[in-house]
Amino acid sequence: MDATGSDALVLFGATGDLAFRKIFPALQALVAHQGFEQPVVGVARSGLGLDALRQRLGASIDAHGDRADRAATERLLGLLRYVDGDYRDADTFYRMRQALGAARHPLHYLAVPPSLFPTVIDGIGDSGCAQGARVVVEKPFGRDLASAQALNRAAHRVFAEPSIFRIDHYLGKESVQNLLFFRFANAFLEPLWNRDHVEAIQVTMAEAFGVEGRGRFYEEVGAIRDVIQNHLLQVVAHLAMEPPVGEGAEALRDEKVKVFRGIRPLAASDVVRGQYAGYRDEDGVAPDSQVETFAALRLHLDSWRWAGVPFVLRAGKRLASTATEVRVFLKRPPQQVFREAVPPQSNYFRFRLGPDRMAIAIGARAKRSGVGMLGDDIELLVCNERGSQMGAYERLIGDAIRGDPTLFAREDGVEAAWRIVDPVLASSTPPIPYAPGSWGPAQADAQAAACGGWRAPSEG
Ligand code: NDP
Repeated sequence: MDATGSDALVLFGATGDLAFRKIFPALQALVAHQGFEQPVVGVARSGLGLDALRQRLGASIDAHGDRADRAATERLLGLLRYVDGDYRDADTFYRMRQALGAARHPLHYLAVPPSLFPTVIDGIGDSGCAQGARVVVEKPFGRDLASAQALNRAAHRVFAEPSIFRIDHYLGKESVQNLLFFRFANAFLEPLWNRDHVEAIQVTMAEAFGVEGRGRFYEEVGAIRDVIQNHLLQVVAHLAMEPPVGEGAEALRDEKVKVFRGIRPLAASDVVRGQYAGYRDEDGVAPDSQVETFAALRLHLDSWRWAGVPFVLRAGKRLASTATEVRVFLKRPPQQVFREAVPPQSNYFRFRLGPDRMAIAIGARAKRSGVGMLGDDIELLVCNERGSQMGAYERLIGDAIRGDPTLFAREDGVEAAWRIVDPVLASSTPPIPYAPGSWGPAQADAQAAACGGWRAPSEG
């Protein structure tokens, strides 16, 4: 880890949606909890002055931050500066440099449309503001393998790899970090955590809502690019990786990259794509759109630990509920000791990753009170926490300021993850329609047949 902390934050895209909903509230939390006191230079082209940007920041905290902590909001307002200008104009960057004053190690946060990532990176480099600096690049990092490689090349022309922080906000979530922690902080899991005892692994990321006015954006991505290539593959890496050798960011990231490299590129037969009825009527969506709002897929991991174990993932919008959950199903006992056969999938580990609650549970059978030797499915709750977790953006921005890359995607990891999904991105098979409020098209059931079908995320 580079020990030099960033001495300023430059927020490209300061007037945008992400800044409003996530970044300003995270900065307020950093002021409140972590003593953040560096200047924040907002850069956008809307013609807003500093006063108007301050008002916008205040509205952002009222809507999405801790509105009761007025002191933290005031301190953050005092740190704010503003530069108005187009990113295609070199003068914008020279004025940004002036606004940085004495700061020598800025963190440049690119909360701008992805098509502008290379333009802004070049502008930072040409103005001499890259030296001693770091850059945070928002998702999506590319839209396929070739564009991710091109973006990596563009970023490396200006920044060295240790100074590039690729955001995947899933890695900032407490629940996703707990998956990793629970695996490697407990010795009892390791003997079970392999092909001898694990029957299958399921991951569901369900959203009950649709594209919510962001149809134009969603038309460019679809479910596989939006959440599977990044968030769900990161979850798979935490589930499947070997323990890191030694401490530090690179040891951990090395093991995750090995998982991605061990996953076969997807074939068309591994994937079922769906589209909710009514998607084509959304604003910004083509009347004949072929974009998937749902995808279910089976991964093949070619590793000593996981060979033959199905990893099945599904993600979709307008599904029956909003929840992200992992289930690791264990094999059944080898022999039937009691008259009642143990039902399949009754031994499992369950990780609820969000959105409102983090839980870890162990599914087991226990004897039902009475004469016979009959059982019930029970769950042991290891943890079940609502709210009060550190926000993902607070965690990630704080880490980037300190120069800790552990929770950010590395160049080789991003490319290896794109390599997995790349063959199915340009699918010419039309997505299968499904009813809003359902669990997606029935054809997706085949993907999970080997592990007793899909389990709806637990209500408990
Ligand atoms: P918006 O379109 O809401 O905001 C874009 C920002 O970039 C605005 O501040 C805009 O300034 C500025 N901008 C655009 N073009 C120029 C230009 N040529 N010169 C100067 N400023 C310019 O985008 P979002 O905030 O939604 O998204 C930003 C990034 O974050 C994207 O990469 C997106 O993929 C990513 N992201 C967004 C999420 C979200 O929920 N919004 C979630 C996850 C990632 P102005 O207003 O002055 O035009």
